[in-house]
Amino acid sequence: MVGKLRPVGSRVPLPVSTAPTDSAWGDHYEAAYFASGTDALAMAVQMACLKSPDMPEPEVIIPAYGCPDLVAAVRCAGAVPVVVDVEDEMPFLDRSALIESISTSTVAVVAVNFLGIPERLEALSVICREHGLCLIEDSAQCFPPLSCHSLVADSVVVSFGRGKPINLMGGGALLRRGHFSEKERSSLENCPQQSANYGVPWRLKRLLFNVVLHRFCFSLIEKIPILGIGSTTLVPHSTITRKQVPERLLLGGVKAFYQRPLVHRWYDLHLLPLQNRGWILLNGINRGEACLDRNIPRLRYAVLAPTSGLRDECIRALTVAGIGATALYESAITGIPGVAPLVRAGRVTSAKGFASRLMTLPSHEDVSERDVQVIAKIMGNLSQVCD
Ligand SMILES: *Cc1c(COP(=O)(O)O)cnc(C)c1O
Repeated sequence: MVGKLRPVGSRVPLPVSTAPTDSAWGDHYEAAYFASGTDALAMAVQMACLKSPDMPEPEVIIPAYGCPDLVAAVRCAGAVPVVVDVEDEMPFLDRSALIESISTSTVAVVAVNFLGIPERLEALSVICREHGLCLIEDSAQCFPPLSCHSLVADSVVVSFGRGKPINLMGGGALLRRGHFSEKERSSLENCPQQSANYGVPWRLKRLLFNVVLHRFCFSLIEKIPILGIGSTTLVPHSTITRKQVPERLLLGGVKAFYQRPLVHRWYDLHLLPLQNRGWILLNGINRGEACLDRNIPRLRYAVLAPTSGLRDECIRALTVAGIGATALYESAITGIPGVAPLVRAGRVTSAKGFASRLMTLPSHEDVSERDVQVIAKIMGNLSQVCD
């Protein structure tokens, strides 16, 4: 393969030329825009805490396999993240562990859609209703959020960062079911506002970014953290900042998203034989995940290797072949430097197992079916050795 197939990242869109008639989020949620997805999540947590203003140390449940931004956002809102293990061989919350971890201080559960596969929100919402908790759908990695159709979450968080489904090189949104309450609105109004700078400098940066995504360039600039996908670190977050996103730009992003090829279907097809050799395709088909629409592009394609050793071997071989395969977060969230002192955590056994076996494969708009066949061949050859 010539050049390098980047692990993730889509082109930055241009605004649509005609005035939008529909909201990007449907009619059931009111949106507020922020400088990042982390800011939007912090505000979602802050709003959940507003319901119990006298709680000295409100707790918010997050999954044990996930992005350290979850910890930064919950902390920024003045709450304590409570880490709950995922289900075995799944990125989703273990519901019995979740129920056990609910205390009198719990105010919210953050349900994270993983690389385009929605969490089991219906089941989580039953638990949340029973215990009077707020359900936050973190859809930073998944467009459109499940709740835009099912209205199940109280709040929804979206990110427009690099390496997310709609890449505006930064920004985020918080969607609130119904409307923001009086108190919530005044919380919003208390946030500093960053100016919406989508003028000529932004457009030049966009052009540069889109050129750099090309596979010939990407091999050269890989070391430069332009995608912000290289390493997983905890970046503490102190202030929630708002920032408007032009509606036409957002709709440009939505339009570009739906025009992408359905790369995950090629993976579903060509990686299918690997299931007989102990691989698990996290494609939402065979593991009972919620209402997954197969016609929607996926952020990355996720697989679990039979062993951690084979995962590492495959990443090495794919990297040599110029394919951006990654192990994503590489450890349970509590294993990410700096996280442990900021959270409460019980067992994270399944999250550790998941982290040791997960491999992500690129599924952005520049992956061809031929690329997928090459990837399947490399993985197949290495798996044979292990039989
Ligand atoms: C990226 C991400 C965030 C944070 O979004 P930013 O815009 O990068 O701040 C939050 N949650 C999840 C699950 C993410 O993947």
